[in-house]
Amino acid sequence: MNAVPRIPLSRPSITDAEVALVTDAIQNGWGDRCYDYIHRFEQAFADHVGVRHAIATSSCTGALHMGMAALGIGPGDEVILADTNWVASVAPVMYLGAQPVLVDVLPDTWCLDPQAVRAAISPRTKAIIAVHLYGNLCHMDELLALGEEFGIPVIEDAAEAMGSIYHGRRAGAMGAFGAFSFHGSKTMTTGEGGMFVTDDSELYEHVLSLSNHGRVRGQQRQFWPEMLGFKYKMSNLQAALGVAQLQRVEELVERRRAVYHRYQAAFAGVSGVTVNPELPGTTIGAWMPTVVLAPELGVTAEALLQAFKEANIDARPFFAPLSSLPWMHPGPTGRHAQGLYERAVNLPSFHDMTEVEIERVVAVVLQALHHG
Ligand SMILES: *Cc1c(COP(=O)(O)O)cnc(C)c1O
Repeated sequence: MNAVPRIPLSRPSITDAEVALVTDAIQNGWGDRCYDYIHRFEQAFADHVGVRHAIATSSCTGALHMGMAALGIGPGDEVILADTNWVASVAPVMYLGAQPVLVDVLPDTWCLDPQAVRAAISPRTKAIIAVHLYGNLCHMDELLALGEEFGIPVIEDAAEAMGSIYHGRRAGAMGAFGAFSFHGSKTMTTGEGGMFVTDDSELYEHVLSLSNHGRVRGQQRQFWPEMLGFKYKMSNLQAALGVAQLQRVEELVERRRAVYHRYQAAFAGVSGVTVNPELPGTTIGAWMPTVVLAPELGVTAEALLQAFKEANIDARPFFAPLSSLPWMHPGPTGRHAQGLYERAVNLPSFHDMTEVEIERVVAVVLQALHHG
């Protein structure tokens, strides 16, 4: 029915370099060499982010789960995070039997409001999860200061924040630990996969043991779990893909930023239309460019998504507030969290996106405004 080709929301960039390393891993990465790419990937990733330690995992969800388990989070504890989030950030809190405490986001970051966090802190608060939504950056100085004042660790979910830099420090490198995702939709991919990063050597050793079914490094007795652990490991094949993608990370991030800048320029003169904020002193990785439509435009996210559907373009709804999930039994929905859900839409962005494709996306937004 559609004469024009479909534009996907996201897709990875795979070159001969990725194919060469995965081919080597599948042919030679066995036996004594079955961890070679994993260790290479972990070392290179730690160097890139600027932390001492990294552990490759099967997902970001798994990295968050193990990190929070190692921090001792469990039943009776509370963990504060933003109402606007993908469920993967909150699921590990609930796996551990702890209670998520959802607070509203700020219109200038779409991330945690530090004042709302302060108001939500209780004697049972065990952690704050700073999720750098869509590659935007949380107000980390304020959140880290709160963490210090109350003795509460700040965890960074940097799944969407490859390439995001806050006052000289990379997303994921500022908190007690950071977690990344290499799902196929993310800026760099291993198919599925994730990474746990930290500067804390004790926390690293603990998570390393947890990640290996509770086996402590260098143990004398084989097949002896010292504690109940997890199985969230990355395979050597995936790590080979990760090594190749990481070698191209600057290029992958630059391209995402270029697409973001094109959208930014296209909507700069359009009153009531804004894109992801990039606050002074920060660089965003721009994983997912997003438009926000001001209420006075009279165009809802729902109407814009319908227009994209008709144009054969795969735009996506903004994350619904977690507080609207009935099975979570949470508190009231944040005002800004709800507003963004009703008026924001994720736009397509991928490495090989053409100028013609970008123009088609821009045209749908501009047209929807005229028909609003
Ligand atoms: C993608 C994503 C995750 C989950 O990553 P997986 O690797 O799929 O577990 C977690 N948090 C955020 C913010 C994400 O975007």
